[in-house]
Amino acid sequence: MSTPVFSTSIAGSLPKPAWLSETRKLWPQWKAEGEELQQAKADATLLWIKAQEDAGLDIIGDGEQSRQHFVHGFLEQVDGIDFEHKVKMGIRDNRYDAMVPQVVAALRLKGRVHAAEARLLRAHTHKKIKFTLPGPMTIVDTVADRFYGDKVAMAMAFAELLNQEALALQADGVDIIQFDEPAFNVYMKEAADWGVRALERAAQGLSCTTAVHICYGYGIKANTDWKATLGEEWRQYELVFPALAKSCIQQVSLECFASHVPAHLMALLEGKDVMVGVIDVASEVIETPEQIADTIGLALQYVPKARLMPCTNCGLAPMSREVALKKLEALARGAELARQRYA
Ligand code: ZN
Repeated sequence: MSTPVFSTSIAGSLPKPAWLSETRKLWPQWKAEGEELQQAKADATLLWIKAQEDAGLDIIGDGEQSRQHFVHGFLEQVDGIDFEHKVKMGIRDNRYDAMVPQVVAALRLKGRVHAAEARLLRAHTHKKIKFTLPGPMTIVDTVADRFYGDKVAMAMAFAELLNQEALALQADGVDIIQFDEPAFNVYMKEAADWGVRALERAAQGLSCTTAVHICYGYGIKANTDWKATLGEEWRQYELVFPALAKSCIQQVSLECFASHVPAHLMALLEGKDVMVGVIDVASEVIETPEQIADTIGLALQYVPKARLMPCTNCGLAPMSREVALKKLEALARGAELARQRYA
């Protein structure tokens, strides 16, 4: 399973079909329940595996079709969490309110979290597969703590559970395990102080490739409003990348195209594979292959060719299926053009 130069993949999530759940929402309601829901999730996963392959992507994911939300999908399989009594909490430093479950007792996994979709993914593509899990710091920022009373202790407790699931995913045949840590871009000092350490705990003992995705969030209004306050240069990565560069995590997924991230910050990730965001998830406009190849060219000034992997800026979950599909195709075409241009 060798992969070409400029191997393409998506950050993680894809839109759910209208027959599976509500659409264009971050916390969509499922349309079925019980066995029927399990089947519908599997059907949607298969559909997106095929769509990613047809588009020509090199690394395939499950599109997170089996989880309502990228954080809560994991938490549903954790004992010690009260999902019955969700509370409203400002998350990502109060950028937006979410109804979040409460941690009420010591955390323990009820069993496997993503076995079904990981095995389905492995069985239905010969390409490399990537599987995403929420990172410990982002989980801590998406639950209400009524038990630990200490963020770091709770993050380490979650990291242990993530590690259990990650080791099991590796045994299922997953090639790349990616932890999603948008919170790193919000609490930069804490990320450098203990977020990266918690991440390394989650990745402990893995022999597959490990990755972290750090972004400025989905293309929802709360996020685009927040981005508008960040000024001309978004330098959040500058505070976190040095700590990541020293860590055991092998790949870093970052936002680039249509952002105000100075490209030279990628140079701080020396020694890491860099998944460069060449697809904007906050716009329905489809990138042209030329635009994508240009972004790759810009990144090439700071990232060696063999370490550069074109990716989306973030997940595509809240978009329309049609737009998401076209963006996947654009991603593959843009990478192909870059292979010719920078051969
Ligand atoms: Zn993201």
